[in-house]
Amino acid sequence: MKNKVVLFFSIAMLTSFFSLAQEIDPKLTEVWSPEPAKVTPGKTNSDAPSDAIILFGGKNLDEWASTKDSSKPALWTVSKGIITVKKGTGNIQTKRVFTDYQLHIEWRIPANITGTNQARGNSGVFLAATGPGDEGYEIQVLDCYENKTYVNGQTASVYKQTIPLVNACKKPGEWQAYDIIWTAPRFNEDGTVKTPGRVTVMHNGVLVQNNTEVKGVTVYRGQPYYKKHGPAPIKLQDHGDPSEPISYRNIWVRPL
Ligand code: MG
Repeated sequence: MKNKVVLFFSIAMLTSFFSLAQEIDPKLTEVWSPEPAKVTPGKTNSDAPSDAIILFGGKNLDEWASTKDSSKPALWTVSKGIITVKKGTGNIQTKRVFTDYQLHIEWRIPANITGTNQARGNSGVFLAATGPGDEGYEIQVLDCYENKTYVNGQTASVYKQTIPLVNACKKPGEWQAYDIIWTAPRFNEDGTVKTPGRVTVMHNGVLVQNNTEVKGVTVYRGQPYYKKHGPAPIKLQDHGDPSEPISYRNIWVRPL
């Protein structure tokens, strides 16, 4: 008898729950605007989507300037659709400035690369150039296919801060890609950090930095720190190590 009563009440409760659920109009939770802008994706992951700014499409360095003196042109070599670091000419940076963005950039370590540790195809993508020289937040570019170095300085590390989740390096001579999502740090009026920078990096399609909190600007000696800044250029590193210079191609950015 007791079991029958429990069963009766259970059925009654379920029935009332489902009938109540049926009475809620599903349209109440439909959102119809604003509609996301239409973007035509590229044919491949290398191709820029229709709303991207092309920073290098294979022809010239018109979008780039010298970091030493941003009124001067970038002096790296452009040939056959690729940029190659011209050692000794210094870092180059975009003429435009950015805050948050999605960046696609391809790079190649020469097949005949020499050297070891950090002196083997060293370059870098600085997410925001916060000053001259190497100031900014660096995602390391280096040959680590079969090259040992400190792991927080290997390919796709946030240099001297965060080790990549895995080593997704291809062999020297092959083109590799970074797809980077950068959320710039925000600062209070008094210069203190409101929210730190955050970065997600896919290396050759493999997740290597997952919404990583950036601890401050890249520092070779000592600890990273933050210094208030606003929109900033994207910078590429002429490291100066004695190995063969590396190349870049297909660089595009989508400000967010
Ligand atoms: Mg570097």
